[in-house]
Formats: sequence, structure tokens, C-alpha cells
Amino acid sequence: MSSTDTFDGARSALWMNTAQEAPETKQLCEVITADVVIIGAGFTGLNAALELLGRGVSVCILEAGWLGFGASGRSGGQVNIGLNLSPSELLAKFGEDAGNRLIPAVAQTPDTVFERIQRFGLRCDPVQNGWVQSAATQTVIDWQTNLAEDFARHGCSLEVLDREQASRAIGSDKYLGGLFCPTAGTLQPLSYTRELARVAIDQGAQLYTESAVTDLVKTDKWQVRTAQGAVSCDKVLICTNGYTSPQPINDLEKKVVPVRSVLAATEPLSAELRAKILPGEVSFVDKRRLILYMRYDRDGRLCCGDHGPMRDTFTLSDFAAVKKRSIEIFPVLKDVRWDFHWGGRVAMTKDTIPFLTEIEPGLFAAMGYNGRGVGMGTVLGVEAGRLVAGLDKEALAFPVSSPKDFKLHRWHKAGVGISIKWFAMRDHLESMRS
Ligand SMILES: Cc1cc2nc3c(=O)[nH]c(=O)nc-3n(C[C@H](O)[C@H](O)[C@H](O)COP(=O)(O)OP(=O)(O)OC[C@H]3O[C@@H](n4cnc5c(N)ncnc54)[C@H](O)[C@@H]3O)c2cc1C
Repeated sequence: MSSTDTFDGARSALWMNTAQEAPETKQLCEVITADVVIIGAGFTGLNAALELLGRGVSVCILEAGWLGFGASGRSGGQVNIGLNLSPSELLAKFGEDAGNRLIPAVAQTPDTVFERIQRFGLRCDPVQNGWVQSAATQTVIDWQTNLAEDFARHGCSLEVLDREQASRAIGSDKYLGGLFCPTAGTLQPLSYTRELARVAIDQGAQLYTESAVTDLVKTDKWQVRTAQGAVSCDKVLICTNGYTSPQPINDLEKKVVPVRSVLAATEPLSAELRAKILPGEVSFVDKRRLILYMRYDRDGRLCCGDHGPMRDTFTLSDFAAVKKRSIEIFPVLKDVRWDFHWGGRVAMTKDTIPFLTEIEPGLFAAMGYNGRGVGMGTVLGVEAGRLVAGLDKEALAFPVSSPKDFKLHRWHKAGVGISIKWFAMRDHLESMRS
């Protein structure tokens, strides 16, 4: 590996080397019909498809790239509890009724994912050992304590860790404390994607790859067009998340800002090193404004993730920061080899939580996970399937809303760059103080 090597964010992912085989798919080159077209074959679109198929609705899934081309094939694969807002914040935002339907779904996100993996027999290396979030400052400890109390009022138990417990769980004495979520875990994200697709195809879905949707036209039905073919259908669900562009419909892309996250994976670590670093093989997040996240894969490689540059192809220097930060926490990593480097787009929304929306009658969208789409993409995919199938909005766990645009969306690259520098400076000052 040389400093001039470039890494395609998807093809260079570790997951490409350890995933279950993908089901056979082809490009759409004809005119077909379906009840519903789903655009985007990631966690959201595929879970929506399974929900619709289970309700007897015929589904066609159109994917611009290959299965797992988007974030779902590149993800860190941490299956975490739902959203960036606390239960109290959700109640304040959505009101008592909708908030009280949403909070249990948020709290049960990891169990929902692992239960679906079992139910559909998805071969994707699931591990449910829990998740530790560290706290480097008293402010974070206070926030974590409040969050745990807030969730406890809704029957969900998160454990607050003192300094010694955090040090034991993480394998580093750098922190003042932490938070432990026992139901969280990890999976192999590309396998999860391919396996969801396999089951959807087995259940009758028509799934086409290399089939980017270019146009949506409403006549008596929706006409969904790709370069080589078209689908006539009653309803359309868009699940393009960080890869949303002005095609096929203008303005949806203004609801999400794509920031980049990069991951580097070590060589398989020795049992001796694994006993020192995240010894219970828990997944880990170093809670800062710019988070650092880690997990093991099934071969004992430590996968470490951080924010990345605002492009889709990376060079070795783009991974220098994630390696440096990881070694600062675990100095024993200083001599290990880093074998894999990759990254992709994370979709941020204005209010920091995803949205489920009906753009116009028969046209729906679900996206915007702010870096928590393994669990929430699964949950919201199912919810989107229910909405598209015609369930009453009051019967859904996730509220149907009208997400706000980022007003200066065309300048988002500059805006993200400035925000990252600002957050990095504040994180640095805080860590100096503590
Ligand atoms: C590096 C990285 C690490 C992450 N780590 C974690 C983690 O550890 N835990 C966690 O919870 N979340 C994580 N996330 C976020 C999570 O992976 C995503 O939120 C989730 O995969 C989103 O799934 P999705 O199906 O909504 O979108 P995607 O998987 O991005 O799929 C969208 C698809 O839409 C397709 N598409 C776009 N336009 C068109 C079109 N016109 N026609 C047809 N298809 C189209 C794209 O090709 C793409 O495949 C991470 C993300 C990244 C990038």
C-alpha cells in the first residue's frame, strides 16, 4: 500500500472480502409492472420490500449500483439504539401520542434487528454483546445519566458506568465513565444487505441492479424510468439516503446533507491484544462532537471509524486521523498492520433524526439516519412498508412528517468543512481541560 493509492469507498471495504454471496441480479431492460417500486436497495428499501411482500403486495426494487453499493455495504455495522434524540425530546417534538408510539420502537431497535435476522435466517455474523459509549468529560457523564433515567422511565435499561467499569469494558483508563446498552451489537453489513435481497427475491420481489431511476412520471399510474427500461406501478418509495440526487425528483436531496465517514480495519488481532482492547468484544463509541467508533469483525479485525473528507474516493492520508485517534486510546495498536480502508456517505437531516414522508399521493420517502441507519434503517424500512401498504398513520410507530430543507444546501460542502473544523477545535479544548 503506498501513499498515492486511492480507495474506492465501496469496493475497498473489508466487507467485500467476508460477505455471503450476493443473489444473482440483472439490469432492468424491459417494461414491467408492480404494485410498488422501491428506489434504492439498502437496509431501508429491502426491509420495506419484505414488509410489503409479507402483506401480499408485489414489489420491484431498482438499485443504481450493485447490492450494497450505498452506505449499507460500507457501514460500520453497529446495531445501536434508535435515534439521536432522547425520549423527552421525542415527546416534546412529536407530542404524547406519537411520541409514546415511537419511543418503544427506538428503545427496541437492536432487538428488532436481531429478531428479524433470526426470523428470515439471514447469514450476516450477528453478535449481540452490547455497546459502550465513553464519557471523557463531566458534561457527557451528566448527559448520559439523564439519558439513562429518561429511557428507564420508558422501560429501557441503559447502564451508567463509573470510571472503573468503563475502563474494564473499554480496556482504556482514559475515560471518566460511560454508558452501556446491553441489547446492542454488530453485524456484517454487506452480508445483511445481500441476505435481505436474497429473501426478498425468494418471496417474489423483482430486483434490478445497475438500474438508476432517471424519471418519475404520474399518469393514471406512476411510470418509473431507467435508461433501459420502465416500471408501471401504483406507488413509489424512495430510499436513497446519502446517495439522494436531483434525479428522479428534484428537491428531495435538499432534505439531507451527505457527510463522509471513513473506516480502517486492522489485521486479525492476536487473542492477547483482543483481551486488552474491548475485551468483551462490545462495540464502542468515543462520545465527542466528532465521534470515533470501533468494533471487531468475525476474524478479530478491529474496525475503527471517524469522519472523512467531502469526496467519495479516498487516499491513505484520509485515514491517518482515525488510526492516530485509535492508537491514542489503545497504544498497543501502534505496531499492528492496517489492511482495509474504505468509506461512504452518511445522511444528516436538519433535526438530526430520520424522516418518513409522503411527498404527494402515492410517492413516499424514508431516509436521513445521521449515522444510525443499521438499526433505524431496518425499523424505518418496516414502517415505510406499512405506510405504503396503506396502514393508518396512527397505527405506525414512526410519525409521518414533512422534513425541512437545508436552506443553503448548494453550499453544503463548505458548511460541513467549517463545522468539522469547529467541532474538532471544541473537542480538542475539552479534552485538554479534562
Ligand atoms: C462508513 C459508514 C459507516 C457507518 N457506520 C454505521 C454504524 O456502525 N451503525 C449505524 O447504525 N449506521 C452506520 N452508518 C449509516 C448506515 O450505514 C446508513 O444509515 C444505512 O446504510 C442507510 O441505508 P439506506 O438503505 O437508507 O441507504 P443506502 O444503503 O445508502 O442505499 C441507498 C441506495 O440508493 C441507491 N440510489 C441512489 N439514487 C438512486 C436512483 N436514482 N435510482 C436507483 N437507486 C438509487 C444508491 O445506489 C444506494 O445503494 C454508516 C455509514 C457509513 C457510510
